[in-house]
Amino acid sequence: MDIVTRPRILVVGAGFAGVECVRRLERRLTPGEAELTLVTPMSYQLYLPLLPQVASGVLTPQSIAISLRRSEKYRTRIIPGGAIGVDLRAKVCVIRTIAGDIVDEPYDYIVLAPGSVTRTFDIPGLTDHAFGLKSLAEAAYLRDHVISQLDLADACTDPAERASRLQFVVVGGGYAGTETAACLQRLTHAAVKRYPRLDPGLIKWHLIDIAPKLMPELGEKLGRSAQEILTRRGIEISLGVSIAKAGAEEVTFTDGRVVPTRTLIWTAGVVASPLIGTLDAETVRGRLAVNADMRLPGHDGVFALGDSAAVPDLAKGDDAVCPPTAQHALRQGRHVAENVIAALRGRPTRPYVHQDLGLVVDLGGTDAVSKPLGYELHGLPAQAVARGYHWSALRTGVAKTRVMTNWLLNAVAGDDFVRTGFQAHRPGNLRDFEYLDAYLTPEQVRAHVEEAGRAAR
Ligand SMILES: Cc1cc2nc3c(=O)[nH]c(=O)nc-3n(C[C@H](O)[C@H](O)[C@H](O)COP(=O)(O)OP(=O)(O)OC[C@H]3O[C@@H](n4cnc5c(N)ncnc54)[C@H](O)[C@@H]3O)c2cc1C
Repeated sequence: MDIVTRPRILVVGAGFAGVECVRRLERRLTPGEAELTLVTPMSYQLYLPLLPQVASGVLTPQSIAISLRRSEKYRTRIIPGGAIGVDLRAKVCVIRTIAGDIVDEPYDYIVLAPGSVTRTFDIPGLTDHAFGLKSLAEAAYLRDHVISQLDLADACTDPAERASRLQFVVVGGGYAGTETAACLQRLTHAAVKRYPRLDPGLIKWHLIDIAPKLMPELGEKLGRSAQEILTRRGIEISLGVSIAKAGAEEVTFTDGRVVPTRTLIWTAGVVASPLIGTLDAETVRGRLAVNADMRLPGHDGVFALGDSAAVPDLAKGDDAVCPPTAQHALRQGRHVAENVIAALRGRPTRPYVHQDLGLVVDLGGTDAVSKPLGYELHGLPAQAVARGYHWSALRTGVAKTRVMTNWLLNAVAGDDFVRTGFQAHRPGNLRDFEYLDAYLTPEQVRAHVEEAGRAAR
């Protein structure tokens, strides 16, 4: 009989933070020291910053899906599913597997890294009609959808329908929205040459944001430079504006304009995964409030990081918390692994401190703006820094090779604008992709764990 006496470390989420943590734990702990388990609905780590390039067809989806089983050295047990609740008192994580079974996973240490979901507001029609860009499926779906609008516009005889199919609205002037608008505009600009009956002048992209500036984190000069590049390429930018209403065939802006469109892309920020709400613990704007060493105060063995946690930003000071970026998530992942090991071995944990390295924004082709270590770059040097940074941050050699090959192939041969149709049979809006109703309430978690405990006795 195999009696497990090793401490159980459970990591929730296989994103930047979770995978970095697991790999470090595997390297630094002997198999006899702890049992490692990872809960994740996907069998890969998604390199999210390159998602706009998948949506625009520069990269294939597989190239940014980094396998969790690439090496025989990976010894962590993987539970394929999503955590739907955590009972901090009983130290049990409730999981729904991808087969739909409910599994209770006890732990001694838990590392919460489930990331974030798209932030939406109570705007009529939004979740029914908007597309998000947070998953590989969404990127693939969006690409097919945009190409299908060109196909349908080309085939239709009604000028009003054609015009509406060729207008596209992106909400969110942060780096995700700006890159998405820029990359997809390039896609339609290049694709329309293959549709001789379509008037390229009918294709209109709108990028809107309620904030007064595009990507304020870039600073005044670079933000303006990005804006100029996009405007030159024909993207209409409206700042201080949001969506008042979304419909299947038109979108109403808060300034009263009604834009006929079948494509509303919503990238207006993120909120912590709903899993955090199941803990019944203190949050800061939805993110779990943790100490600088990423421990949850008052709960031994509970750590949280990445987009789902409000980790104090000691490099900035005051009450700042680390922004939800891959840059922080990845480094926090490594750091939290060291702190879990320290806790396990009875040593003191260390606070997380990281000086922001800056921002890179790929606007497609040779257009880019970057601010590495405070230096402001645009054009080719910015693009080289942007691609170089992402390329070096990809975890595996095979992912690096796939991405580089895709970049080269795209630069030489361009795109064939093929719709895959894999998901054509199902709708693909925000509501369909984010599974927000999968989670339990804190009371349901507790009741479930107590019931399971009674049944086991
Ligand atoms: C389009 C786009 C562009 C971006 N560009 C940049 C950029 O240029 N630079 C930058 O620094 N950041 C960028 N970001 C932000 C960056 O990707 C995130 O900050 C980063 O991914 C956060 O890491 P994480 O590990 O917290 O979450 P994620 O990487 O999102 O990982 C979370 C993981 O948890 C899993 N999960 C979710 N719920 C559950 C659950 N209930 N149970 C188990 N597993 C779960 C998910 O499947 C996922 O694998 C971008 C984001 C987007 C969407």
